[in-house]
Amino acid sequence: MTQFDFDLFTIGAGSGGVAASRRAAGFGARVGICEGSRVGGTCVIRGCVPKKLLVYASQFRDAFADAPGYGWGASVPAFDWATLIANKDKEIDRLNGIYIGMLERAGVTLFNGHGRLIDRHTVEIGDRRVTAAKILIATGGWPSLPAIPGIEHAITSNEALHLGRLPHSLIIIGGGYIAVEFAGIFAGLGVDVTLMIRGEELLNGFDDDIRVALAQEMRKRGVTILARTKPVKVEESASGFTVTDHLGREHSAGLVMAATGRHPNTRNLGLEEVGVALDSKGAVIVDDGLRTNVETIYALGDVTDRVALTPVAIAEGRAFAETHYNNNPMRVSYDNIPTAVFSQPPLGTVGLTEAEARAKYPKVDIYRTGFRPMKHTLSGRDERVLMKLVVDGDSQKVLGCHMMGMDAPEIIQALGIAITCGATKADFDRTIALHPSTAEEFVLMRDKVPDPA
Ligand code: NDP
Repeated sequence: MTQFDFDLFTIGAGSGGVAASRRAAGFGARVGICEGSRVGGTCVIRGCVPKKLLVYASQFRDAFADAPGYGWGASVPAFDWATLIANKDKEIDRLNGIYIGMLERAGVTLFNGHGRLIDRHTVEIGDRRVTAAKILIATGGWPSLPAIPGIEHAITSNEALHLGRLPHSLIIIGGGYIAVEFAGIFAGLGVDVTLMIRGEELLNGFDDDIRVALAQEMRKRGVTILARTKPVKVEESASGFTVTDHLGREHSAGLVMAATGRHPNTRNLGLEEVGVALDSKGAVIVDDGLRTNVETIYALGDVTDRVALTPVAIAEGRAFAETHYNNNPMRVSYDNIPTAVFSQPPLGTVGLTEAEARAKYPKVDIYRTGFRPMKHTLSGRDERVLMKLVVDGDSQKVLGCHMMGMDAPEIIQALGIAITCGATKADFDRTIALHPSTAEEFVLMRDKVPDPA
């Protein structure tokens, strides 16, 4: 039998690659991993974690504004962007160290450098070549920019986390997760933010009621949303940059950010040369066991462009390691994945939207409630919560839970368990409310929204 350097070699030390590698090593496999950037990947280094720290920072504005209603003095202290970025960077360094430590303790050999496939068992990292029985591609994704003149002037979420100073105004192109989250961050930090979206509403794919409600709340916070507006060019101007739209209108701001989706990182990996099949977006095509068309090569996470969420990549990594190195075949279920958007106010959602449910089930019951949360009775803030349950009218199974409002991500994570267990509306109804809370409304909704005509 051929002797390889490793049982498994992983290209990319992000959430998915690290999860698979350390577990495989824990099961006794000889594992190597390479990383061309920093260990931790998108989520830890330039995504979820630094983004959420900035979200926290931006929320202090609300806290100061809300305080007088509760008897606290009203002066708003100065904000220093440089301090925030330095502290955030320190935390990312700490997490990067923890990830490296996890790999070391698991006995995974870490190679610093970009990995490239040479053949179905060989990876080249710089001037080294290593061989492995199986190779796992876990190289994640990277921001995609619209192909318009001057787009090189636009920053992406990568640069937004490292700006030397805050701009006075910002145009964000796009209306997805990243656009909406960074709009909230920058608006909270005092930047005049404009979102430029090509469709009618933000957040394609989310429940329509939630999309409309979020746009209303963002507008109340001073974010301008330019709907049905397509950028056609970006130019430098006296005050910063100008984005010209499809109707020839010019929109100026101190900075322009593109948050127009992400593409799989499959360039320069040697995939085509080795014969690994990619789809039209360049994503690695895998079967439900994460295997590519080349039997020794597997892929997981954002590089497969299926569900681009960290916990999904981690679940895939675990399933891969269990299946191949612990004799415990596992498949990831992609149903009912809870997700949050850390907008302001935040969103949480699990299961089907109303539109998806109506397309799939003959009879759908909708329960919906909207109100001003208790906290804002004294703060005076004009901010509302929206909660919605989508129920199969025949079986009474709850198909989807959607929320916009304070703590929505925390609440929806817990409701995800109920949905995974197949809870019915009657199960929600017999659950005693936890009072006073916002979450209790999920077990108190009794009146169906009338069916659409
Ligand atoms: P999304 O796919 O969520 O959104 C992309 C946005 O850009 C959409 O509004 C899209 O419009 C718009 N767009 C795309 N191309 C163009 C173009 N050429 N001109 C103008 N607008 C354009 O991508 P994101 O970059 O926001 O995020 C990438 C992924 O990362 C997410 O899908 C998610 O999986 C993950 N993520 C998850 C987070 C979380 O869990 N909280 C946070 C951040 C990212 P349209 O809708 O019309 O197509």
